[in-house]
Amino acid sequence: MKYRKMGSLGWNVSALGFGCMRLPSRRLNRLRAHVDASIRLIRYGIDQGINYIDTAYLYHLGDSEKILGQALQDGYRERVRLATKLPMFLTRKTEDFDRYLHKQLKRLQTDHIDIYLFHNLNNGQFEKVKQLRLMEKMKEAKEKGLINHIGFSFHDTFPTLKNIIDFDDWDMVQIQYNYMDIGIQATTEGLTYAHSKGIAVVIMEPLKGGKLANPPSEALDLMKSAKPDRSPVDWALQFLWNRPEVSVVLSGMGSKKMIDENCASADRSGIHSLSKEDENTLVQIADIYRRKILVPCTTCEYCMPCPEGVNIPQNFAIVNNIALDRSLFQRWQMKKAYKKLSGSKDKRDKNNPNGNASACIQCGVCLEKCPQNINIPEELKKVNAIMGKGRKISEYYP
Ligand code: SF4
Ligand code: SF4
Repeated sequence: MKYRKMGSLGWNVSALGFGCMRLPSRRLNRLRAHVDASIRLIRYGIDQGINYIDTAYLYHLGDSEKILGQALQDGYRERVRLATKLPMFLTRKTEDFDRYLHKQLKRLQTDHIDIYLFHNLNNGQFEKVKQLRLMEKMKEAKEKGLINHIGFSFHDTFPTLKNIIDFDDWDMVQIQYNYMDIGIQATTEGLTYAHSKGIAVVIMEPLKGGKLANPPSEALDLMKSAKPDRSPVDWALQFLWNRPEVSVVLSGMGSKKMIDENCASADRSGIHSLSKEDENTLVQIADIYRRKILVPCTTCEYCMPCPEGVNIPQNFAIVNNIALDRSLFQRWQMKKAYKKLSGSKDKRDKNNPNGNASACIQCGVCLEKCPQNINIPEELKKVNAIMGKGRKISEYYP
């Protein structure tokens, strides 16, 4: 494992961090995490040298923190820096801060959190931080030794990021960044701005919700023709570790194989290790993706559960997969996948969401939750037209 600087914190932090939002799921309820398999996996990651673990109140409907608390027993807690997040979406009054923090400490079975983040700050949630004086609460918790450092995870545009950074002294920021997102969300400008202020930058969505692991054939050909031969995931990770501003790249790893592959990538990583040729290849690959992806869903599942049982990310993945690979085989497979989802109310299972786009009643409950600002009900209408009614993609995505 390679270790890197963590902003101004003086830590040696593993280049690869363990993101606990995509733990192995339970067989009968895929929104929940499987306890034993997840504990084994987290400990395996730590044994491979990972020393930065990220979770949040909301991940896996609360299972993630509880399981992590168990995984970090038997001496594992002392081996890692632990980050978790205040659920901004559920925080309605100032007193909620203490309530959630204490609940999280209990779930995590620890007396302190190394970095406590405001979860998913955007312009609206930042206003809430100011109105409810939540930064004061953060500092109070720090004085009491309940948290060591203060940060925020971010989903909005660069001007908002700059406003937040300039608002107070932050220790870290977690941003969405990958070779396709250099100009959206925080952008490269945001990455360099945070770094210039001495703030540690942790990267989430390095694979854009897994899309960069499965490139369209044109992009794959380009990768294969480049030297050295790298897997699509390795390309995406090396792009990030190449940058001096990046401290940790988080990966939600659901198997030992993924951990092994990502650790091997981290071993090969280094600042400024990519050649100009490599960088040009990545620009071309990103262009291919941009021309193809229809809905910028990262499958984060923040919009879930939908009260009608619609599996929102799965519906978007289906149209995106067709757009990325228009072969007959892919269309057939995606049709099959869409048929497996259900439109009928009595067949829908809210614990194991299986509703297709036609089940969306346009209630808008999910809208506020999407960090990518996707107009979910509108996009689902299009998915229903394409997948359910056989309309052409070009009618809806010219
Ligand atoms: S708008 Fe549709 S997808 Fe969103 S919560 Fe309502 S029913 Fe579910
Ligand atoms: S629609 Fe938005 S919130 Fe839902 S999974 Fe996709 S990116 Fe996440």
